[in-house]
Amino acid sequence: MQEERELGDELAQELNEDLPIVETSAVHDYINRLGRSITDVADDRDAIDYTFYVVNGPDVNAFAVPGGHIYVYRGLIERADEMSELAGVLAHEVGHVVKRHGIEQWQRAQQAQMGLAVVYGVILGRDPGAAEQVAVQVGAAGVFAGYSREAEREADAVAIGYLVDAGIHPIGLVSFFETLLDQRDRDPSQVEQFFATHPTTRERIANTRDRIDSLPNDTLEGLTRDTQEFQQFRREVEGLPAAESD
Ligand SMILES: [Zn+2]
Repeated sequence: MQEERELGDELAQELNEDLPIVETSAVHDYINRLGRSITDVADDRDAIDYTFYVVNGPDVNAFAVPGGHIYVYRGLIERADEMSELAGVLAHEVGHVVKRHGIEQWQRAQQAQMGLAVVYGVILGRDPGAAEQVAVQVGAAGVFAGYSREAEREADAVAIGYLVDAGIHPIGLVSFFETLLDQRDRDPSQVEQFFATHPTTRERIANTRDRIDSLPNDTLEGLTRDTQEFQQFRREVEGLPAAESD
């Protein structure tokens, strides 16, 4: 747990220097409010303190770093029609964190790629810190690239429960993944990164739909699918100037 948090915090610090993070408070506050409505019911570990970041980039992408740092790209937010779709993605990412999929990937990669870290140390003439090792691996091979299909299925399954407990209709999890799959059929380039890290099949999404359909009738009653707040948030995101590239 300690390792997970320290590694994640270090890595997030590096990422936050490299990525164009949106600092507009209305945007940052909303994604954290929505995200925490999910993590409050999903994760009872005190040691994990969740933070959500909006990245000002056109990619349709989202990923979680161990320790509870979750990044969502502007391109993804702009494609979400309603709150439940963005919430579905957040809940799926939270599922990866709670189930420790990322940290386990990292530990495996670390064992497999010890040689790379040593080489990196030689090049720099010093021992790389944990975050530098991860940065190298993310760049080189993509440590967090490619959760297993089993991890994807598990993230979806737990996400349904989190959403229901948070009072959010879980159908967005299904409809948004369907939108992304349609996009992949038309023009894969924009969603490529997302599917590289989250291998997704129509079959898995159909299974998730079946799982939601099989919930007792009254479970879904009164759950929220959309809010004015979300629509306002999406308009704010759509209105952001593009990030300056350096
Ligand atoms: Zn995933």
